[in-house]
Amino acid sequence: MFPERGASEEEVLRELEEKTREDLTFDSGKILGSMCTYPHPFAVKVVMKYIDRNLGDPGLHIGSQKIEKEAVDMLANLLGLEKGYGHIVSGGTEANILAVRAMRNLAGIEKPELILPESAHFSFIKAAEMLGVKLVWAELNDDYTVNVKDVEKKITDRTIGIVGIAGTTGLGVVDDIPALSDLALDYGLPLHVDAAFGGFVIPFAKALGYEIPDFDFRLKGVKSITIDPHKMGMVPIPAGGIIFREKKFLDSISVLAPYLAGGKIWQATITGTRPGANALAVWAMIKHLGFDGYKEVVKEKMELARWFASELKKIPGIYLIREPVLNIVSFGSEKLEELEKELKARGWGVSAHRGYIRIVVMPHVKREHLEEFLRDLREIAKR
Ligand code: PLP
Repeated sequence: MFPERGASEEEVLRELEEKTREDLTFDSGKILGSMCTYPHPFAVKVVMKYIDRNLGDPGLHIGSQKIEKEAVDMLANLLGLEKGYGHIVSGGTEANILAVRAMRNLAGIEKPELILPESAHFSFIKAAEMLGVKLVWAELNDDYTVNVKDVEKKITDRTIGIVGIAGTTGLGVVDDIPALSDLALDYGLPLHVDAAFGGFVIPFAKALGYEIPDFDFRLKGVKSITIDPHKMGMVPIPAGGIIFREKKFLDSISVLAPYLAGGKIWQATITGTRPGANALAVWAMIKHLGFDGYKEVVKEKMELARWFASELKKIPGIYLIREPVLNIVSFGSEKLEELEKELKARGWGVSAHRGYIRIVVMPHVKREHLEEFLRDLREIAKR
């Protein structure tokens, strides 16, 4: 009920505290199955300082608009381009929707079809429904990467583009993007890479010597990439990223916003009014940590994930779905449902995904949390 009279701040805060007691918090170390994390304190500081900035009306916040462009360019640069075109958006879902929208608008064909791996994130289902695009699912190989031959078989004259994934939601697998890029070039189709998770992991992991396929704009067939700073970038939610290789992709999804206080602008994002503070935090975090800072974070989490995977293998009745590629470790068991229920009852924030439990070794996940989790898992699996 909408209250007749207001309450004091203290009263309202007390009620909030009570009501959020049921929430799991990232700093408790109990959330092991999420791609989000406790944001970096510096990013929080930036968001609080610039909380009023609205990138939906950039004529008013000209400085913030320039900073967003610089953030997009720095992300493009990380992904192998000197200059990119795109936006800091609300997350991977919006970024993927924008990519599909651009592919559809540029193709301009009736009954458009998009080919994507069976492992693709459900945001593409939303995109397809909203945009009237038919999804054509490509099969996976035994190692859970997309079967490129099957992708080729599914190309028709209605195909508007191909999607590859660099860091799948369930297993953190990286598709054979070089082969998909060649295929896209052969057929004159755009390739969109969903690196919502992997974008802030793979460049650093590769620099550390991990063997991971190329996935970014260095491959000529790649025309757009989703990369989310609110995952491994440690920026507060909402902060996603969509980067296009060429301006025409952005132009194809821009509509005229005629009435804004800051003057007429062309707007490409799904959201109108949108947080400038988070875009500024993306810029600030990249400046603050730099390549070396992010590499340190990724080094620690990749090593922890490998140690965790080796410990899991020692537990009878537990098996790895596949060796980890990034900092995601997924495991199965014959008693998966029971296991999930018991782990949840013990306060662990995990869930059984398509027949396995996924652990994402995010920045807030420390070795002691995983040790405690392993103790519980050993106990439950023994029964
Ligand atoms: N793409 C991939 C590969 C993801 O794993 C996710 C989320 O987990 C998304 C897209 C969607 O991102 P968001 O939840 O930020 O919209």
